[in-house]
Amino acid sequence: MVNKHKYVTFSKNVFIPVTNICRNRCYYCGFRRDIRDEDAFLLNFDEVEEILRRGREKGCSEALFTFGEYPEAVEGFKEILEEEGYESFIEYVRDLCERALDIGMLPHTNPGSISFEELKILKDVNASMGLMLESTARLKAHEKSPGKDPQIRIRTIEDAGKLKIPFTTGILVGIGERREDRRRSLEVIRDLYEKYGHIQEVIIQNFVPKRETKMENYRALPMDELVETVSLAREILPKEIAIQIPSNLVPLEMIPEMMRCGANDLGGISPITPDHINPESKWPSEEDLREILGDLFLLKERFPIYPAFICERKDGLEKNDGWYSERISNLIERYADDDGFKREG
Ligand code: SF4
Repeated sequence: MVNKHKYVTFSKNVFIPVTNICRNRCYYCGFRRDIRDEDAFLLNFDEVEEILRRGREKGCSEALFTFGEYPEAVEGFKEILEEEGYESFIEYVRDLCERALDIGMLPHTNPGSISFEELKILKDVNASMGLMLESTARLKAHEKSPGKDPQIRIRTIEDAGKLKIPFTTGILVGIGERREDRRRSLEVIRDLYEKYGHIQEVIIQNFVPKRETKMENYRALPMDELVETVSLAREILPKEIAIQIPSNLVPLEMIPEMMRCGANDLGGISPITPDHINPESKWPSEEDLREILGDLFLLKERFPIYPAFICERKDGLEKNDGWYSERISNLIERYADDDGFKREG
């Protein structure tokens, strides 16, 4: 399989981990905290605004909001939220997204498996949103994570399609699933795309064990298995869907091979914030990536919403056609070139 895309894309972002309180307990997770842990947090508006402003100064255009799932389900969280003047966490996230838009950043929220109504609350203040399917298989790693029920996640991805939200999903490879589960997961994603046209990229994320988690002694996914999965994804997914490899979880020298097998996106890269989910894995710089890609592929900066949703699509969809709101449109007009990528300079 060959990467037929002209570009390898990435998005320059700031990573905003709104809260590390989460109703789930995934066995590989090093991010989640219990409410009474010393380092449990809910970022307040001033903290978020400070990150957003620094990102803007450094030329970032994406505000990536990621957080634990349904923190309100955890006893004691509502009281913390009330101290910030909110009764609903989704309203809190919505207002943070509004703040990002005011500052000139395009929000991309990873909200976990939330309801249709909650997705609707976030839609018009987000350029795009995301939820990893992870796997259609029921896995031991998820036995304490009600939100990782595959049916619940498929329903959320489907609801995003009904609401016309440009969407990112993906699979987490090497957490106990079988090869046929990977195939099945990719087929389910393809089928959802064919029904709603909303999936813009699929992340093929390799499992890397974290210290002090239940899976700390579990095997990291070997790179040849990742290459195999990228090739499988390219075989199953329509070519309009980008295949993303997280640039900080793969050795730099492996990136060209991943691209040759069909990957064509390197995800978010931040000049100022770490990957809070994988803090031990540093982002490569743009310069590092350009150098390793050499003359083979052109590195191109995109927005969190892909060009196909900004420009007229070949399959006959009208420009915009309900994929994003007026507020998002204003920022896109300010920053985008004619091809829907970020304008140079
Ligand atoms: S991986 Fe996500 S959903 Fe699972 S425990 Fe960690 S924060 Fe929660």
